[in-house]
Amino acid sequence: MTTATIIGSGPNGLSAAIVLAAAGIDVKVLELNSRIGGACSTAETALPGFRQDLGSSVYPMGFASPFFRSLPVSIPWIIPPAQCAHPLDDGTAVLLEHSIEETVTTLDSCDRRAYRRLIEPLTGEFDQLIEEVLSPMWHFPRHPLLLARFGPLALLSGKRLAKPFFRGRRARAFFCKHDDSLDPPARTSNISRGRSCPDGRGARTWMAYSARGSPNPV
Ligand SMILES: Cc1cc2nc3c(=O)[nH]c(=O)nc-3n(C[C@H](O)[C@H](O)[C@H](O)COP(=O)(O)OP(=O)(O)OC[C@H]3O[C@@H](n4cnc5c(N)ncnc54)[C@H](O)[C@@H]3O)c2cc1C
Repeated sequence: MTTATIIGSGPNGLSAAIVLAAAGIDVKVLELNSRIGGACSTAETALPGFRQDLGSSVYPMGFASPFFRSLPVSIPWIIPPAQCAHPLDDGTAVLLEHSIEETVTTLDSCDRRAYRRLIEPLTGEFDQLIEEVLSPMWHFPRHPLLLARFGPLALLSGKRLAKPFFRGRRARAFFCKHDDSLDPPARTSNISRGRSCPDGRGARTWMAYSARGSPNPV
């Protein structure tokens, strides 16, 4: 029987192990740490009963991933009521809600149409787009026009995206704020990296947030 050894039990190692095992290969996963999960682990590190994410914590792309959805297990994603919030000095917040309709109510009225114009075309064809985005970097696109529409937006930083698209303070703050706390390479691709995540870690696609939620694993 063909055998395979996977070094590391992070999400990529485990995914590879699943694919290989499903193909009938005898798989062994080696892990250096005492727990599996790599940078996606959660553990009680401080107080009993309080579990902390040891690395990553926000997974819109995992939630949207065709691979994860194809698995014969139910992943217990935690889906928060609002997917992220950007607090403002006046005590209110911009909220990324589960629907575009609700999200725009937390923006200045001058930006509601612009937000829809930016996000709706992407969420409308979300499944096709996510298939492109999650394919290997060098592949022949099955939805080239969609990818061409998304690509230029994905390359813009939050500031560059927000300035021409929005006039109001709320949307601009929501898209830009965390640029300041990021190192230069991380400032790019805000629509694709979900830069609005308040803790600055976040998720890979804005559309994944907008269309599918930003679940955290249990
Ligand atoms: C602080 C932090 C925050 C993050 N936040 C997010 C987020 O919010 N959302 C998101 O989508 N992504 C986030 N990420 C990225 C995400 O965690 C990684 O993309 C993902 O964990 C990569 O998975 P992986 O399987 O490739 O590697 P890892 O998760 O790094 O797993 C590698 C595994 O290999 C093991 N290993 C290494 N060397 C050996 C060896 N020689 N022998 C045996 N085992 C070995 C390690 O112990 C580890 O368990 C974050 C990452 C970090 C560090």
